[in-house]
Amino acid sequence: MRCILNGKLVYPDHVKTDAALLFDEKIGEAVPDTEELRKQDLEFIDAQGAYVLPGLVDIHIHGYLDEDASDGKPEGIEKMAAGILQNGVTSFLPTTMTVSLAELNKAFAAIRECMEPSKTWCGAQVLGVHAEGPFINPSKKGAQAEEHILKPYAGFVLENLDIMRLITLAPEMDPDFRAIREIAASSDVLLSMGHTGADFNTARAGIAAGVRHATHLFNAMTPLHHRDPGVVGAALLADEVSCELIADTFHVNPNLYPMIAKMKGDQVNLITDCTRAGGLPDGTYSLGGQPIYVKGIECRLEDGTIAGSVLKLNRAVANYRQYTGLPIEAAVAAASYHPARAIHCDDKKGSLLKNRDADLVFANENMDILKVYRGGKLQYEA
Ligand SMILES: [Zn+2]
Repeated sequence: MRCILNGKLVYPDHVKTDAALLFDEKIGEAVPDTEELRKQDLEFIDAQGAYVLPGLVDIHIHGYLDEDASDGKPEGIEKMAAGILQNGVTSFLPTTMTVSLAELNKAFAAIRECMEPSKTWCGAQVLGVHAEGPFINPSKKGAQAEEHILKPYAGFVLENLDIMRLITLAPEMDPDFRAIREIAASSDVLLSMGHTGADFNTARAGIAAGVRHATHLFNAMTPLHHRDPGVVGAALLADEVSCELIADTFHVNPNLYPMIAKMKGDQVNLITDCTRAGGLPDGTYSLGGQPIYVKGIECRLEDGTIAGSVLKLNRAVANYRQYTGLPIEAAVAAASYHPARAIHCDDKKGSLLKNRDADLVFANENMDILKVYRGGKLQYEA
């Protein structure tokens, strides 16, 4: 058993500063730091005043280090996993785009393989897939390829239930919400509205049929207009709907973060929507078969359309904290506990609560990552 001393332990709703944290492969108790404890036969780790966070959970990430989940290469996903671990991410959903069905099936096979990792795997853990598309609205396709958009059918999800955790679809493309209802009735896959041109009432009807999440709130959906509140209005107002936010200060004006925090509270899920350009210098890369141009924090298609990000999830936490003024535990929970709960993994992931996997991140006040343990194993040290 190991024991972390001198850490500020970040729980979903408070920070403990006077306790020691026991762990092996799983997280144990937080106990008083006493003389008695320090005499015990434990392996002590001095956190030197750092924050000790639960490993971050990214439920929407396409790529990193020139690899992309849609490429269908297990070794590519492993490289992504190793790269994002250095940003404090210890588990994630590799996220596919609207590509051909053959490419999707190949990508799912690769993701399936990575869910049973080899002993030498030394990156973030793959929790399943987020399928962003192919059931989207061509009018809100963003950087998704129009020729591969399909009409929604439940089988796409139900035949892949072993890996499918989250699907982004446009509710208005699903007549009578048949696929949505069928998926909601026979699985706990998180149904998310995104890349959608639905109006307010259609979005509300989609929620009534089983939609429980909104993919990158504000981006690629009908906006909030005072006479036409759109998908954004429906997502903000429905308490049962969690919302993704790309907190890179570019996709959504950061002065709106406090409004989102006030309205959605513990239903805010910070994501990266990172592309294969993540972790690499400015230049030309590709996304879903189209070229993208990366400069600073911006990724765009040739015509200027925003195309994913190069955001790191620890930076999203810092940005969200800075612009909302929320306490650190609330900003961290938005990238750990909330997304883990949204995809029904909070019994293992997303918090320092007892019996969760020992995915532990040491970070400083700026959210720079100092050390990362996954499943109790030290996997990164700055
Ligand atoms: Zn995306």
